[in-house]
Amino acid sequence: SSTLLEVRDLRVVYDSPRGPVEACSAVNLDVRDGEFVGVVGESGCGKSTLLFAIAQLLSPPARVAEGTVGFHGRNLVTMTEKELNALRWKDYSVVMQSAMNALNPVTSIGAQFKDAIAAHESWSRQQIQERSVEVMRLVGIDPIHLRSFPHQLSGGMRQRAMIAMALLFTPDLIIMDEPTSALDVVAQRSLMVQIKELQQLLGFAVIFVTHDMSLVSHFSDRLLVMYAGQVVEAGPTRTVFDSPSHPYSEGLLNAFPSIRGPKVPLTGIPGAPPNLADLPSGCRFHPRCPKVMDRCHTEAPELYPVGEVLSRCLLHQGSEAAS
Ligand code: SF4
Ligand code: MG
Repeated sequence: SSTLLEVRDLRVVYDSPRGPVEACSAVNLDVRDGEFVGVVGESGCGKSTLLFAIAQLLSPPARVAEGTVGFHGRNLVTMTEKELNALRWKDYSVVMQSAMNALNPVTSIGAQFKDAIAAHESWSRQQIQERSVEVMRLVGIDPIHLRSFPHQLSGGMRQRAMIAMALLFTPDLIIMDEPTSALDVVAQRSLMVQIKELQQLLGFAVIFVTHDMSLVSHFSDRLLVMYAGQVVEAGPTRTVFDSPSHPYSEGLLNAFPSIRGPKVPLTGIPGAPPNLADLPSGCRFHPRCPKVMDRCHTEAPELYPVGEVLSRCLLHQGSEAAS
């Protein structure tokens, strides 16, 4: 499979009266055709900002300050709104955290599908109806609900309807921002299974943002762990999950109960991510790191290779310098 999305040195800032605040620092991310990539981290670590920057949905005061988002070999960052509109829904779709906010409350689901289709294709009423029924069936909702308004559906059904809408043109990439976070554990699990099944059936790639590493780790091929606006660990999910290289990834793994395994006491990570306008010196994780060393207060780690993983921790500096 080939590379679908190539994010290079993407830097996002929020303009503030005191100057720009960096929310994503030089992020690199590749997504291959049909790949499922999980982006994990606590809230305030830049995951949603990264996702919005990739989808070109940032609005002031946030902006891309540097870097490129290559999609099918074209840089989305420099595209006009018209060029982007031609790609949205068709080539990539975005599913937000809350369909209640993303869907229009005073329009039926079917009418919203129709609008999304009409923005791209001049299909007949019958073609629109057929495709709408088809995508509702794909996500397991009775097509009768095309006539329903968003508030008439349960939270889980609304998220499914959002995913159905994202599937109207079977895009190559679906970008999802915590699409299950408003649901209870059972609904969350069943939606994850369904997303994975659809992905395998239809072959689209997924970027899935979540604060819950254990949720996504059963479904993703690769993980990107973000802390304080930086990627701190990136690699194959199995490796990151089974033996995290970065102390922050390790902490995240202990912060949530396994959705499969037995209940264990959660240790997690004490404290909270730093204010992006006032970052700690050296390693941004040092005030919370259980493995902190003296030099972590002054030296800013880069991403170092550890086997097939990249880890932004001084413990791995030079670990594979010879390879
Ligand atoms: Fe912890 Fe130091 Fe590694 Fe940062 S560089 S994660 S403070 S050990
Ligand atoms: Mg978020």
